[in-house]
Amino acid sequence: MISNCFHKTKRPIVVSGPCSAESREQLFSTIDAIKDYVDAVRVGIWKPRTNPYSFQGIGEEGLEWISEIKKRDNLKIATEVANAEHIELALKNGIDILWIGARSTTNPFLVQEIAEALKGVDTTILIKNPINPDLELWCGAIERVLLAGVERVGAIHRGFSYYGKGKYRNMPQWQLPIDLKQRYPAITLLCDPSHLSGDKQYVTELSQKAMLLGFDGLFIESHISPETAKSDANQQITPDELKKLIDNLKVDYSTSTDSSYSIKLEELRSQIDGIDNALIELLSQRMEIVKEIGELKKMNNSSILQRERWGKVLESAIKSGQELGLDSDFVSNLFKLIHQASIEKQTKDF
Ligand code: PEP
Ligand code: MN
Repeated sequence: MISNCFHKTKRPIVVSGPCSAESREQLFSTIDAIKDYVDAVRVGIWKPRTNPYSFQGIGEEGLEWISEIKKRDNLKIATEVANAEHIELALKNGIDILWIGARSTTNPFLVQEIAEALKGVDTTILIKNPINPDLELWCGAIERVLLAGVERVGAIHRGFSYYGKGKYRNMPQWQLPIDLKQRYPAITLLCDPSHLSGDKQYVTELSQKAMLLGFDGLFIESHISPETAKSDANQQITPDELKKLIDNLKVDYSTSTDSSYSIKLEELRSQIDGIDNALIELLSQRMEIVKEIGELKKMNNSSILQRERWGKVLESAIKSGQELGLDSDFVSNLFKLIHQASIEKQTKDF
């Protein structure tokens, strides 16, 4: 049975703190600046870094700082664990909340090892979504932990990896956390706008969106001086920015009909945003090729406007559009705009 992770009924739950513990000074000053308005502090001790040459986390030394903080303040602290040894060390040092990172959730062997190590332990565990958009894999990890007897189990939505560049570091695919909550209505569902966006300028808009979609709270990276951070420097916000974000968050989306309307609207808007990003990405790729063609024409002293080719491009676009139910005038106007920009690009470079 799943029970409440934070013994708090009012949204939003806020868990925040640095991506990584880096030094005693950095950890203490960040925590001192945020402790009055968070429900728990997050801090990475062992870091699952993509690159073996990047900072890999401070390791056990950081646990000593945490023990010190816990003796001084009555604060709940969360850290990421990826194996049985991490769990043993974290529990020995009084860590209250453990989380399973996105890369670990994708691996059932690892999740099973973590679950075995949690048998008989009274703790809270938050499970990040796997890096691939697979709801069953996320649920499978939750089930393994529940089978181990842990009851305070929560989930963190941090988005899904993709190849290429888009607005956000990870794709939100909001439907997955919505479906997860549908399946486990009692689960504490947090949104991690930091890893979702990869960029501090989008942390507020994603936090607001999570509230609109009925999330229970937020899991946000904050750092006393984000620009000097040894990991995820682009996405961490300052304690002041965190306070402002929390103070300005709108959480009172009231009646159930209203909220189902808002949820649907937000889902559809997310899809539109994804498509718009893809359109922009494709247009930029198209323009790169236009540029190459321009260089080729220049080298061969060939004219830029080749009427026959342009006629064919337009005709074929209108025909494909018609087959998919798009108005011919719309397609024609759109392609004329694209063509005009391409010609301008080539003429400018000639
Ligand atoms: C983190 O929370 O610092 C982290 C490594 O996140 P994720 O597992 O979502 O990449
Ligand atoms: Mn991070």
